[in-house]
Amino acid sequence: MGTPLRQIVEEMGGGAPGGAKIKAVQTGGPRAGAFPRTNWTRRWTMSRSPASAPSWAPGGMIVMDESTRMPEVARYFMEFCMDESCGKCIPCRAGTVQMHRLLDKIVKREADRRRPVEARGAL
Ligand code: SF4
Repeated sequence: MGTPLRQIVEEMGGGAPGGAKIKAVQTGGPRAGAFPRTNWTRRWTMSRSPASAPSWAPGGMIVMDESTRMPEVARYFMEFCMDESCGKCIPCRAGTVQMHRLLDKIVKREADRRRPVEARGAL
């Protein structure tokens, strides 16, 4: 704890294969966030607020280079959440399905940026 993400990824981990530029690092499993390079100099600690700090729960990191399409990553993780939902809570049971549909539309370039209401309505 307290080590900047950049140091972990680039110095300890050796960066991306072939010297590719790293786009983001995802920590903490499918429900956590992906952190862009702009956040990499901060020293991450367990005490930071959930809104600004990564989740470290499983202790793993997924490092994504510039070839990664973030909507596809989000869809992949939402599919995991959808499959893993036990179905007891409606927001989780129905929401993950709707979010997956929306992300699938975005990946397939079928979503309309001019209609954000459609995105809100999907939830
Ligand atoms: S439906 Fe509720 S209890 Fe089940 S996995 Fe989702 S949030 Fe957890």
